[in-house]
Amino acid sequence: MKLHEYQSKQIFSRYGIPIPKGRVASTALEAKQIAEELGGKVVIKSQVLVGGRGKAGGIRLAKSPTEAEEVATQILSMEIKDLPVRKVLVDEAANISSEIYLGITNDRAARKPVIMASSAGGVDIEEVAQVSPEKIIKVHIDPLLGLRDYQARDVAAGIDLPREHWKTFIAITHGLWKVYTECDATLAEINPLVITAEGQLIALDGKMIIDDNALFRHPEFSEMRDLDAEAPSEIEARKYELSFIKLDGDIGCMVNGAGLAMTTMDIIKLFGGNPANFLDIGGGANADKVAAAFRIILSDPNVKAVLLNVFGGITRCDEVAHGILTAMQEVKPKVPIVARLVGTNAEEGRDILTNAEMITAETLVDAAQKAVVAAKGDLR
Ligand code: GDP
Ligand code: MN
Repeated sequence: MKLHEYQSKQIFSRYGIPIPKGRVASTALEAKQIAEELGGKVVIKSQVLVGGRGKAGGIRLAKSPTEAEEVATQILSMEIKDLPVRKVLVDEAANISSEIYLGITNDRAARKPVIMASSAGGVDIEEVAQVSPEKIIKVHIDPLLGLRDYQARDVAAGIDLPREHWKTFIAITHGLWKVYTECDATLAEINPLVITAEGQLIALDGKMIIDDNALFRHPEFSEMRDLDAEAPSEIEARKYELSFIKLDGDIGCMVNGAGLAMTTMDIIKLFGGNPANFLDIGGGANADKVAAAFRIILSDPNVKAVLLNVFGGITRCDEVAHGILTAMQEVKPKVPIVARLVGTNAEEGRDILTNAEMITAETLVDAAQKAVVAAKGDLR
């Protein structure tokens, strides 16, 4: 789950990381009022869950409350990378003297969290990472030991931070580490962390991603979830406890088990097709869940065929087949469905589906090939 900038910065602030004064607004008038309260120059920042807002014109300075209102009006009517802007953050503008990148994420290959930092922070950090990766320093953290002081100093030294800022920078790094661990984040990032003309360090931007699997112990984050900013199909899937991720292809996938779902997507690609989604319906899925999964898959107009790949372990294949038929009666799909059932009572399950005039397959290879052909409209 991604948090908005304003939400991330509020959390940062609770952990002692300095942030600019400011508040979030849903209307231009509110933005004007906040600008009046703050006095002086403000920055109006679109709150959408994508990066690169600055380059898209979604971050703009305003010299007066009236200008703040005008700018907010414009930004609130924008779409940034297809996401409508519904809120703006109005912050006191900073006099930037330099921009630092500071972030913590999981390094899966190293099986450790990693702190990344660069003195070349700001809107071009992706380019820095590509063109001059040596400008980004990385320090891995042993999760059992946590961030040690010497490591925070290594980061400061690694980015050639002027000495007078070390103390604050090290405190901020410790703060960000606490944010990362205590909030169960998979990303906690400040870009830019600026040094102002007045010599202060301030987190101007904030980005956090929370591990969905840890949300159960953070009820406060579930309340922060911005449903406007998520694909409706993913919201629906969450309601039924389905893990669903929308993709761009045309073959809908309904599979039990995450590993099997990955395999299914791979094999569709191997035979020249393209999966429309990742979907794990989990173990022991009943007809309700299967119907919900069908509805979600079929709500995508790109879907030209569905590949159902179910391993009947504890749940027997004949039960699964009955569940599928019940679900189909409810959803009435108009695209061909290729079903591959294996496991306990597979044959009985397949017979039930064949009798209902569904396309069945015994092996995954067979199923994937049939689904690819079906998606091209050559099979019924
Ligand atoms: P992003 O483009 O989505 O990462 O949005 P950011 O919040 O990082 O803003 C983009 C850029 O706008 C920053 O890197 C700054 O250069 C600039 N910016 C943001 N806030 C201020 C501010 O208060 N004053 C000034 N002068 N520039 C700002
Ligand atoms: Mn940024």
